[in-house]
Amino acid sequence: MPEIAFVNDVFMPLSEARVSVEDRGFQFGDGIYELLRVYAGVPFHLSDHLGRLEQSAQAIGIPLPYTRDRWAAMIAEAVSRSGFADAKVYIQVTRGVAPRDHIPAGPMAPTVVVTVRAMVPPAAGLYAAGADVVTVPDLRWARCNIKSVGLLANVLAKQQARDAGAVEALFVRDGYVLEGATSNVMTVRKRCLVTPPEGPLLLPGVTRRVVLGLAQAAGVTVKEQPVAEDELHASEEVFLTGTTIEVLPVARVNGRPIGAGAPGPVTKLLMARFREARG
Ligand code: PLP
Repeated sequence: MPEIAFVNDVFMPLSEARVSVEDRGFQFGDGIYELLRVYAGVPFHLSDHLGRLEQSAQAIGIPLPYTRDRWAAMIAEAVSRSGFADAKVYIQVTRGVAPRDHIPAGPMAPTVVVTVRAMVPPAAGLYAAGADVVTVPDLRWARCNIKSVGLLANVLAKQQARDAGAVEALFVRDGYVLEGATSNVMTVRKRCLVTPPEGPLLLPGVTRRVVLGLAQAAGVTVKEQPVAEDELHASEEVFLTGTTIEVLPVARVNGRPIGAGAPGPVTKLLMARFREARG
């Protein structure tokens, strides 16, 4: 089955997709992106992802070339061409192609790239045992709510986690834990779900919002408030949320067990509720 790309209005096999070396996404990281899941042929929370794409684009002044209906139709066609029932759809929009200069000489046409690839979920054993994560200093910029393609600090943090035998790095700034390199973080204390509030220092995760809704519907008290690093370590449960990992229990932070060092009851409840919700 083919991996599909859509580049500036044209569908093609992913292996044939090309953009210019003068694309500002390549030269400056001057672009934004989204990643969404397709379950059994249906994009999950597509309108939330498109809404966040619009917010990111607006924040950096890139005019999006398509309406929501056009995005939805194009994504549906790309998924159908791929033939993958369970897929990940990556959308990238950059400011466009121009001779390299920090300030572009004139108006630009954005570059749009969409790819569809098969989704291989993380191993079931990771969900059963819980993941290892590490904390790292947050070296990112101060607009982490924009889903920018400039991900160098995230890449280095993720590598640091990998080198330590962990699956995720949690960013800590001024003593507070904010989010993971590719996920949001949630803690459980006295059966309340506590997670850092939305703001410029973290990405407003689509999965985060879905899981907070599921928690409230299940009668779990939700508090969106800052989480100090020592509160993270003292939590009864910690888990991560994200498009590719869904709800992933954390067993250890920096090698120290969280609770019993295994998935706790609130985490397990929300893992189950999330799986029901996504079908
Ligand atoms: N935070 C960061 C930095 C991310 O890169 C991601 C996902 O890629 C998330 C959080 C989770 O967001 P979502 O649930 O929308 O995938």
